Amino acid sequence: MIDRARTDATHDPSLRSWVDSANAPQADFPVQNLPFGTFRREYEERPRVGIAIGDQVLDCVEAARAGCFDTLDPSVRDALHGWSLNGLMALGREDARAVRHVASSMLAAGGAAAEAAREIADRILVPVSQASLLVPAEIGDYTDFYASIHHATRVGALFRPDSPLPPNYKWIPIGYHGRASSIVASGAPVRRPSGQVRTGSEGSPVVGPSAGLDYEIELAIWVGGENALGAPVPIAAAADRVWGLGLLNDWSARDIQGWEYQPLGPFLSKSFVTTVSPWVVTTDALEPFRAPLAARPEGDPAPLPYLDDASDRARGAFAVTLEVSILTATMRAAGLAPHRLSVADASTLYWTPAQMIAHHTSNGCNLRPGDLLGSGTASGPGDESRGCLLEIARRGAAPVVLPGGEARTFLQDGDEVIMRGWCERDGARRIGFGECRGTVRAGG
Ligand code: CA
Repeated sequence: MIDRARTDATHDPSLRSWVDSANAPQADFPVQNLPFGTFRREYEERPRVGIAIGDQVLDCVEAARAGCFDTLDPSVRDALHGWSLNGLMALGREDARAVRHVASSMLAAGGAAAEAAREIADRILVPVSQASLLVPAEIGDYTDFYASIHHATRVGALFRPDSPLPPNYKWIPIGYHGRASSIVASGAPVRRPSGQVRTGSEGSPVVGPSAGLDYEIELAIWVGGENALGAPVPIAAAADRVWGLGLLNDWSARDIQGWEYQPLGPFLSKSFVTTVSPWVVTTDALEPFRAPLAARPEGDPAPLPYLDDASDRARGAFAVTLEVSILTATMRAAGLAPHRLSVADASTLYWTPAQMIAHHTSNGCNLRPGDLLGSGTASGPGDESRGCLLEIARRGAAPVVLPGGEARTFLQDGDEVIMRGWCERDGARRIGFGECRGTVRAGG
């Protein structure tokens, strides 16, 4: 399953780090991962680029000042001094790989680079507990796709039992343009939105706090590089525009959505807040966890040529396990553990990230470094893999019963939604995405 021609010494499962916490078997950030993010040491300090290793953050600015990145091209070193990951995301894949290789040699046990780094560990490492983790890039544009046919079919069946899937679903990676300004990092509070809702099929709408607040677990797809306006990205080149992946919670107010979404799609039901995980797991780190594009059922149309590529078919998907848990205020007070609501595999999506990028740019639209794509709710085929409460509780018909006896059809104030992602495969070191959390607060 692992294409050894595409992996290198940084993926070697036997590598260990001199940062002990990175060697724990269930650690999300072993030395084989090395995800990038931005952080602040102190509230007033400007953001810095960092790399997660165990329970520490490698401060790339301090490491660069200490000469640890001196073998890199000056333009690459400059990008490490940026306030966000946009500078790194503007570089080519080779440059990103070069940074990864230097970071690996610094943080893996053994060797001169590691010895030099270890001697200045106090200067270049920050305990993650002392760092504020930020939205990793300045996001110019955010587009949310709808790439799980399982989600689209289940949700469609709740509203249109006779024809759950729209007629374009198997031809077009459907998406809508989201709002970049309201994207927040994991841990930021989520204020319950108010909006216009019409409960029946007739009569006037009312305005008030949403009673249908939901989450959606999605892959965050961070775009690297730039195509000129008017220059579509061919599918064969689209994979190189995927800089890395993270987790995304597309918080959704279902009651507001139900009244507003026709004819132009979601608007205020989604734009009040979107949460992303702070660490971007690079495409290079994900190399051992590539997967074939999910097989299309017999009778489904083949993708049109501009969405079809042999390499993408063979390895364009990512086998990321996605888990959602909930911790309510009552559960928290009772000392209960978070309750798992779903677990799914992102390789079951109907469209790959490269297909999304090829389609997005097919009209000449330019994607820029730091742009963000959401995969759409990443539900799988099984009941255990339903990626939002709308699917799990079937639009209110089947409330979820939680430990302690509470029931949920949608989220209540005080509910914390905790998303996690990880990759595991024989012959590879497990790597994780960290968390994407948010607690619902009363609106007002
Ligand atoms: Ca969504």
